[in-house]
Formats: sequence, structure tokens, C-alpha cells
Amino acid sequence: MSAKKKLCDVEGCSSVTKKTVSREKSGAALKKAGLTLSIRDKVTKVHLCADHYRKIKKQLKKDREIERLRWG
Ligand SMILES: [Zn+2]
Repeated sequence: MSAKKKLCDVEGCSSVTKKTVSREKSGAALKKAGLTLSIRDKVTKVHLCADHYRKIKKQLKKDREIERLRWG
């Protein structure tokens, strides 16, 4: 075993982290995707595996588009 690998923060997921996102930005997207985080501490970063990142990526994009519409 060499370097320790950080695992995905989604509850029940044990895949290796692929992307780290801001918890603030991803919170709503995670909720909409029906994903629960296994972390309870006050953290600012969320670690996600490739699969889960892909799931919220769409949602993150959607939120950004809504924002764009809202602000013109
Ligand atoms: Zn995952």
C-alpha cells in the first residue's frame, strides 16, 4: 500500500475520490440527486467519486443556468 486514497463522501459509497467540490455549491445538487453525505463535520469540501460527481454535475450545470436566467 502506498498513498492513502480518499474515499467518496457519499453515504454507502466506497469508491475512490475523483473530484473535490465545494460543499456549499454542491449541497443543493446532492440533495436533488437524492445523495446523502457520510460526513457530519463542518467541512467545506466534499469528495466525490467519478460516478457521483457525474450525477451532480448535471444538477450543478442546471443551477448555473437558472442563475444566468435570473440575473440576465
Ligand atoms: Zn461515490
